[in-house]
Amino acid sequence: MSAVAGDFDAVIVGAGHNGLVCACYLAGAGLKVGVFERRDVVGGSAVTEEFHPGFRNSSVSYTVSLLNPKVIRDLRLVERGLTIVERPFSNFLPTEDGRFLKVGGGVEVTQREIAKFSARDADRLPAYYDRLERVADVLRDMILETPPNVGGSLADAFSAWKTARRLNRLPLEAKQDVLDFFTMAAADWLDRWFDSDPIKACLGFDCVVGNFASPWSPGTAYVLLHHVFGEVNGKSGIWGHAVGGMGAISEALAAEARARGVTIRTGVTVEAILSRKGRAAGLSLAGQGKVFARCVVANANPKIVAKLAGDEAWPEAFANYQCESATFRMNVALSELPDFSCLPGKAPAPHHSSGIILAPTLAYMDRAHATAREEGWSREPIVEVLIPSTVDDSLAPRGAHVASLFCQHFRYALPGGRRWEDERERAADAVIDLVTRHAPNFRSAVIARRILSPWDLEREFGLAGGDIFHGKLSLNQLFSARPALGYAGYRMPLAGLYLCGAGAHPGGGVTGVPGHNAAREVIRDWRRRR
Ligand SMILES: Cc1cc2nc3c(=O)[nH]c(=O)nc-3n(C[C@H](O)[C@H](O)[C@H](O)COP(=O)(O)OP(=O)(O)OC[C@H]3O[C@@H](n4cnc5c(N)ncnc54)[C@H](O)[C@@H]3O)c2cc1C
Repeated sequence: MSAVAGDFDAVIVGAGHNGLVCACYLAGAGLKVGVFERRDVVGGSAVTEEFHPGFRNSSVSYTVSLLNPKVIRDLRLVERGLTIVERPFSNFLPTEDGRFLKVGGGVEVTQREIAKFSARDADRLPAYYDRLERVADVLRDMILETPPNVGGSLADAFSAWKTARRLNRLPLEAKQDVLDFFTMAAADWLDRWFDSDPIKACLGFDCVVGNFASPWSPGTAYVLLHHVFGEVNGKSGIWGHAVGGMGAISEALAAEARARGVTIRTGVTVEAILSRKGRAAGLSLAGQGKVFARCVVANANPKIVAKLAGDEAWPEAFANYQCESATFRMNVALSELPDFSCLPGKAPAPHHSSGIILAPTLAYMDRAHATAREEGWSREPIVEVLIPSTVDDSLAPRGAHVASLFCQHFRYALPGGRRWEDERERAADAVIDLVTRHAPNFRSAVIARRILSPWDLEREFGLAGGDIFHGKLSLNQLFSARPALGYAGYRMPLAGLYLCGAGAHPGGGVTGVPGHNAAREVIRDWRRRR
C-alpha cells in the first residue's frame, strides 16, 4: 500500500467485532474509514471457521447474549442476515451423586428442578432473580455511556454527578446490592441465598468464566453479574446461538461497514501507530508501507496498543494492566451426541442444546483454581460443553455434530519452564477424559479436534496473555478505571488515538459496546476540531 497523506479520516487497528462496530458508526457520521486486520478473516474472537473438512464452528467465543440491542438495530444486523436462536434452557449440570440439574426455560420450571435438591432454594429463586435483575439494570443503564474520567473535565464532573444521581435514586437495599456485587466473592453472595451445591454451582459458574479466581475470591460476584446483563431477542439474562456461529455477527457487521463505504483489509499486520507533532497520524503496516489518517482507533488489547504507539511515556498503569483469564478452548467434531450417564440417550434432546456445565460444586471450582495456581492447570478442570449443531444444521454433516469446549483455569505461564507447545495435547486429553467420565461414549465419538491453549489464543487471535476480555474484569480495571484511571473516555495518552476494543468500558464479551461508545467520542472530537 502506498503512503498517501490523508488516506483516511480514521484508521482502525483490528477488525474484531468492536472494530467493525466502530467503523460502521464512524462511516455513518461521514468519515472515510480504513480497517486493518492481521488475520485473514474479520471478527477477531467472534469468528466461525472450518476446523475439519465439513465441520465448522465458532473458533473462540461461542454463545451470544451481551450483543447490545441498540447495535443490532442501528447496524441492521438482522437485515444483514443475523439470526439468533434461543437455547431450550440455559444450563444442564450433572451432579456429584449421579443426578442432574437443569436451569432455565422459565422460573417455575427451574423451581421444580431445584426442588429436587432443596425446597427452600426453589422458593428463594424468584427473589434471587429479581435482585440480580435490579442490579443488572443498573449496569445496562450505564454501559452505553462513557464513564466519567477521574480528574477530568467539566463534562466528566457532570457525568460523575449523573452516575451518582442514578445510583442515589435506588432504594437502600439495591445500593447495598450494587456495592456487594462490585466487591464480594460470588460464593459468599450465593451462600446468602441458597443451600444446595448444584444450584450454587450452576448459578455461580459464570463467576470463574474468563476469570482466574476461586469463587471465594473477592470481586468474583461482579464477573457473575457481567454475564447476566445481556438478552436474546428481547428476553433478558439468557444466552443464545448465532446461526452460522459467532462469525455470522462479524460478517453482518462487515457487510454493513462495506455498505457504508468502509475499506477493510485483512492479512495486514499493523507494526506501529505513527504520530506527527504529538498526534496519532496513521499506521505502519508490516511489509505494506504506511497509511495516514486524521485519527487512529485501536481494537487491540490496551497492552498491545501501548506497544504499537511506543509506550515509553505512557502511564505505568498500562504496563501494570492485568491480563490473564486462564482459558483453554477446544472444538471437537463428533460422530454422535454424548450419552450422559445421568440422563441417557444419544438422540437429540433439550439438554444437548443447553450449556452443559461440568463443575458440580463451587468447591470443585475452588480446587481447580488452587491446583492451577500450583501446577498450571488441573486434571479436574472446569468445562462448559455447548453443541451448537443441535440447533444449527449448517455446522456439521447430517447426523454428526460439533461441540465447543470452554475450559477454565489453564494458566498462560506454566510453572517450571513448561511450554504450551508440549502440553497442549495432554491438557486436551484431560478435558476429553472429564467429559467422558460424564458421557462414556464421548472419547470414541471425537473425530477431530482444534485446541487453543492460552498461548495459542495470544498467538493466533492477538489476545495478550490469552485474556478473553482484553484485561481482567476487576474493580481496579472497570468503569472509570478501564483501561486505566484518567483514560476511561476511550482517548489514549497519545492525542488522536482511541481505544474501541474490550479493554475499554464496559469490558469483554461480544457486546459491540466499546466500539459504539468509542465511535461517539471520536465523532465528538472530530466535530469539535472541524
Ligand atoms: C475462548 C473465548 C471464549 C469466549 N466466549 C465468549 C462467548 O461465548 N460470548 C461472549 O459474548 N464473549 C465471549 N468471549 C469474549 C469475547 O469474544 C471478546 O471479549 C470479544 O470478542 C472481544 O472483541 P473485540 O472486538 O474487542 O476484540 P478482538 O475480537 O480481540 O479483536 C481484536 C482484533 O484486532 C486484531 N489485531 C490485534 N493486533 C493487531 C495488529 N497489530 N494489526 C492488525 N490487527 C490486529 C486481532 O487480530 C483481532 O481481530 C470469549 C473469548 C474467548 C477468547
